[in-house]
Amino acid sequence: MRSILIKNIISILFNIANAAKESAYKTKRNLAKVFTFHRIGPSSSCFNSTIIISKILFLEILEYIRCKYDIITPFQLCELARNNTSRRLALITFDDGYMDIFNNAFPILQQLSIPFTVFLTSGALDRGYTDWDRLDYSLIKMVGRTLDLSKVGISQIEVRQESISTLHSILHQALKKVGNELRLEIITEIERQAQILPLERTMLTWDQVRIMNDSGLAFFGAHTVTHPILTQISTIKAREEITGCRDRLHAELGFQPRLFAYPNGRAGDYNEKIISILKDEGFSMAFTTVPGIITSDIDWFEVNRFDVTQENCVSTKGNLFPPRLELETSSIWNALLRAVGRR
Ligand SMILES: [Zn+2]
Repeated sequence: MRSILIKNIISILFNIANAAKESAYKTKRNLAKVFTFHRIGPSSSCFNSTIIISKILFLEILEYIRCKYDIITPFQLCELARNNTSRRLALITFDDGYMDIFNNAFPILQQLSIPFTVFLTSGALDRGYTDWDRLDYSLIKMVGRTLDLSKVGISQIEVRQESISTLHSILHQALKKVGNELRLEIITEIERQAQILPLERTMLTWDQVRIMNDSGLAFFGAHTVTHPILTQISTIKAREEITGCRDRLHAELGFQPRLFAYPNGRAGDYNEKIISILKDEGFSMAFTTVPGIITSDIDWFEVNRFDVTQENCVSTKGNLFPPRLELETSSIWNALLRAVGRR
């Protein structure tokens, strides 16, 4: 027993050493960090504190990044990757296309003249909200009531104010794993019982997208029509999700997007088939949510990004703590986390 434990410890240490060695090697050729945001500003409807940060913190983060890095566009990244630059580069991206970007982030980005890229879920913009918003609003409406999900094979759930955040988090995690059709069926059933429709708009309007596009600072990419995890649906449906979003952006903005971000974006949420569809359909770059620094030997269809959340960049007092942001987005830290199975 003891010798197995010692063997395991040695094996972990060996992996960490290898990861550190690999990471040190990569550090020599580090090219850029891509920072990802979702929502900026307070929102009573959003339970998920990992996807929302305050305007003040957003401003602090951008001022810090602007001071330490050259903030560039995805297309400049392509050029600089070929030229082997020694500059510290960063990109700012937003996923999904929430209206907060226009109302809260865009004025700050304009004030600081920072280029940014937004990956749009076209169907959510057309409808005004995401399927996750439908779930979130429904849960708020169901407080004090019982959700009866026996129709979809789940028992009854008491929705209580004191445990609603936990319930929300468990439901989100579970629904990501059940496959697209069942996920939508369950959300629709919860929504039916909560009777929340019509929902308030949470997503950007196409007019807001055009205003940001005209500013010259914003770049837009596709993020599918309905935000399914692409490996959980058929290849035909995956192609429709990709081309449907591409064509909607083309119709609204007058150009065909070449940038794409995988919904959810973790390893396993995309594969070779999806990458080959993207190449077929005219895309030249696709972003994941797998944390990692971009190196000069980048795979343009697996561009790593770092999620910036309230939790991974602030001090205990809630202010921006730059060493924490740098640590969380360093190759050595991420290699160590991978080695111990935390990433
Ligand atoms: Zn997304």
